[in-house]
Amino acid sequence: MAGPELDTETQRAKLVLGLRKGGVTDPQVLKAIEETPRDLFVPDLFKQRAWEDSALPITCGQTISQPLVVGLMTQALSLEARSRVLEIGTGSGYQTAILARIARYVYSVERYRTLLGDAEAKLKSLGIGNVITRFGDGGEGWAEQAPFDRIIVTAAAPEEPKALLAQLKPRGVLVAPVGKGSMQRLLRYVGEGDGAFRQEKLGEVRFVPLIEGVAREL
Ligand code: SAH
Repeated sequence: MAGPELDTETQRAKLVLGLRKGGVTDPQVLKAIEETPRDLFVPDLFKQRAWEDSALPITCGQTISQPLVVGLMTQALSLEARSRVLEIGTGSGYQTAILARIARYVYSVERYRTLLGDAEAKLKSLGIGNVITRFGDGGEGWAEQAPFDRIIVTAAAPEEPKALLAQLKPRGVLVAPVGKGSMQRLLRYVGEGDGAFRQEKLGEVRFVPLIEGVAREL
């Protein structure tokens, strides 16, 4: 039998507790997740489930990432207040909002115009003004704005994202799911200052694929 419906505050607290258990310990990441209304970013049909720790479908056949994965990826970026962050795959704009609460500027690229327009409106409604968006193929990065302190890819890159690594500062951090299958390796690349990168595996994740070119439909 379903229990009584929990109020939003309780649901948020429960989610944060679960994230802590799952390994998200950075207080500013937990705070950003607690303060970002995820219900704004999920379709009406799924509003009731907005505070569950699960990925949910959004328009254009894409998904809003699971909060635990958002938390772990954001934490792995080691964001600083002055960081300029490149995000590939704006999607719903949820991850973007979390990044924008912690970092100085977020540059976000999306290949679906519809998703980008919706995300922009949502970020604006939250009063978030430090996000710069672009419609385009994020696989190529954003050369005009490079280099970046941090790069996060929220779609699965088939192989090492070389073009993106080339747009990272020498001591920057890039976090991305990498792999061709339905499950991918979540990787963290840390710049060692001499053009080389140390690579760490953070776990197994399931992301929609990074697709070349922009979407012609929608
Ligand atoms: N962080 C988003 C995740 C969205 S799913 C969220 O939490 O809502 C991944 C997104 O990456 C999708 O919106 C998809 O359209 C986008 N994407 C896939 N390939 C891309 C590419 N080459 N360039 C830009 N965006 C891409």
